[in-house]
Amino acid sequence: NGHATGFGIGSSVNSGGKIPLGLKRKGLRIVVTGGAGFVGSHLVDRLISRGDSVIVVDNFFTGRKENVMHHFGNPRFELIRHDVVEPLLLEVDQIYHLACPASPVHYKHNPVKTIISFTPIINFPNLPQFFFIISRTLNMLGLAKRVGARFLLTSTSEVYGDPLQHPQVETYWGNVNPIGVRSCYDEGKRTAETLTMDYHRGAGVQVRIARIFNTYGPRMCIDDGRVVSNFVAQALRKEPLTVYGDGKQTRSFQYVSDLVEGLMRLMEGEHVGPFNLGNPGEFTMLELAQVVQETIDANAKIEFRPNTEDDPHKRKPDISKAKEFLGWEPKVPLRKGLPMMVSDFRQRIFGDHKENAA
Ligand code: NAD
Ligand code: UDP
Ligand code: UDP
Repeated sequence: NGHATGFGIGSSVNSGGKIPLGLKRKGLRIVVTGGAGFVGSHLVDRLISRGDSVIVVDNFFTGRKENVMHHFGNPRFELIRHDVVEPLLLEVDQIYHLACPASPVHYKHNPVKTIISFTPIINFPNLPQFFFIISRTLNMLGLAKRVGARFLLTSTSEVYGDPLQHPQVETYWGNVNPIGVRSCYDEGKRTAETLTMDYHRGAGVQVRIARIFNTYGPRMCIDDGRVVSNFVAQALRKEPLTVYGDGKQTRSFQYVSDLVEGLMRLMEGEHVGPFNLGNPGEFTMLELAQVVQETIDANAKIEFRPNTEDDPHKRKPDISKAKEFLGWEPKVPLRKGLPMMVSDFRQRIFGDHKENAA
């Protein structure tokens, strides 16, 4: 630690990949943790097509090689099977940190591992108190500090918990149950935000924080239990759409290409954030079921199931800040985005039986 420097392609130490005006842009060297996952793989596509060199770091917990296989053989692409809980030495300009189990089914499966991998803390089991947890470090932030790279954290709208303010503005501190079944995710991401800001303030690391709202699109895990993937897979398989609770809870659904554009603008821009990245179009789960019926099968049945614990009642981003400072807003409404996801799911469910290799 300490002596190595960030000789990433085309940038000097601590430039965080920023290109001085007037200079021709050279490719950057960029790490995408979780890059074999749903969002990560779309981000990788954009970065590669922009001319950058991309290193994907993924342990394939929910990610799939199929998501990035089309880059194999490209000298600007590298895939490393690695768990971000373990330290990692690389020389890069930018770090997009996406690695973590992101769907409730997955993160509830191993909550202790969840909180560790969201906020990868070394020696976690030996640390008795939260005080020590936040004083410990994210490996990826340690890496960013060592090589002078810019670090982007993909946080979540879940930091607002079951929000008492609607729509949610970045200045809202949230309403999170610290001891519930979702806490490993919510509190894990909140701690990750804290660590990110502590590295920024304490070690001068260039950081960016995105608070991502529910996102859908091609390459989503088919059986990860999230509502859009569930409804689409169910309608295609002629199974009833499972609506949890009374179906009146709301979410705001963002198409993945809009999110990727927002993440890249945030990384390249001058502002730390946090920024809400989401589509303000708000739907109840019953309305979503209806859109899925219109898109796939008008005769699809709806089946009510008991709701999960601590399910947020409503969620909708206020994106004024991202509009003003990043010049960003989503372009793809649900009724346009859903069919693109449906054709991908159709192909994977009916045309490709290698599916579900998590
Ligand atoms: P995903 O499950 O498809 O991708 C996560 C990737 O991280 C997977 O490829 C997985 O294998 C990898 N991973 C998990 N733990 C790891 C570890 N310890 N080491 C290395 N790799 C690991 O999920 P996604 O929807 O693409 O989410 C990407 C990021 O965006 C996550 O940080 C998630 O919390 C955040 N996010 C997503 C949404 C959404 O609606 N999709 C909403 C809010 C926040
Ligand atoms: N780290 C890493 N890659 C690096 C630099 C650091 O994985 O290139 C890890 C390192 O192992 C440590 C953590 O990041 O556990 C935090 O590093 P930092 O230098 O901030 O803290 P220190 O090592 O001084 O505790
Ligand atoms: N949900 C549902 N049916 C499903 C899966 C989820 O009605 O098959 C509901 C869930 O109770 C929640 C909403 O859809 O109110 C969004 O759930 P998801 O897990 O997709 O995202 P999150 O709760 O993390 O926003």
